[in-house]
Amino acid sequence: MSKPRIQAAVAAGYAAAKGAKGGKNADYIPFLASVPSDLLGVCVVTTDGCIFKSGDSDHAFAIESISKVFTLALVMETIGVEAVREKIGADPTGLPFNSVLALELHQGKPLSPLVNAGAIATASLVPGSDSEARWAAILECQRRFAGHPIALSPEVNDSEQATNFHNRAIGWLLYSAGSCFCDPLCAVDIYTRQCSTLITTVDLAVMGATLAAGGVNPLTGERVVADVHTAPILAEMMMEGLYTASGDWAYTVGLPGKSGVGGGIVAVVPGQMAIAAFSPPLDEAGNSVRGQVAVATIARELGCNLFSRG
Ligand code: GLN
Repeated sequence: MSKPRIQAAVAAGYAAAKGAKGGKNADYIPFLASVPSDLLGVCVVTTDGCIFKSGDSDHAFAIESISKVFTLALVMETIGVEAVREKIGADPTGLPFNSVLALELHQGKPLSPLVNAGAIATASLVPGSDSEARWAAILECQRRFAGHPIALSPEVNDSEQATNFHNRAIGWLLYSAGSCFCDPLCAVDIYTRQCSTLITTVDLAVMGATLAAGGVNPLTGERVVADVHTAPILAEMMMEGLYTASGDWAYTVGLPGKSGVGGGIVAVVPGQMAIAAFSPPLDEAGNSVRGQVAVATIARELGCNLFSRG
């Protein structure tokens, strides 16, 4: 695909998103409510390492739920694909990302590593003898995906740790069902920290492009995840990456994606590129309103729907 074509698609995605209205910053985490709502970043990174960007693509924001993908990759590397499916699952819950009902309905099995219950269970499987060792493994994993060191924002983390009572309840429910594999408060602490790192839209596109490239970071050349693990990770993203809107996203865009309540969103085009955007206002499902418009527009302009022959 030619560079001018990709650059034009990024410009079109940015313009379409700029004109989109609606949504509201997440406010259940106080820090997120304070982020300027008009920020908008867009970026495409190809599997051969070219970067195309527009707007506030170098502005750092909280990774939030998008971190679930990378911790899943880390745990898949540690315990294998089948153990992840057996302990956590690979199905959509059909319920909001922080639902406890999904656990009740499925005998304590979280179903997806990309909703809070499954992500807390996944965090409990991160290798390490104590919290700090597990945390170091997560940061190292995010570093390898992004291609440079990633840091925790103490401000975001403090804001989350002071308000994460619902997630702590999920931790205890998981534990009582045998689906949390370490002390539940430790798992929730690690999960909360992994959501509190800062990335830019360019970082996010590089992280997605690493999955698009079969697990090798296209900027550093470092292998981050085994090639055989990228397909099941992308399958999880297709099933639950945009929560209750995942079906609509598959229907209209046809790409595995992942969003976070910080306003980030990424879609992966296997073998070709990742398309990322950042804009804080969210819709009812918890997905960035303008981020979805940007990514969907770029994917459409470039003919990237996996279910279409182009
Ligand atoms: N830290 C947030 C939470 O657990 C992440 C949720 C999200 O991005 N959907 O509620």
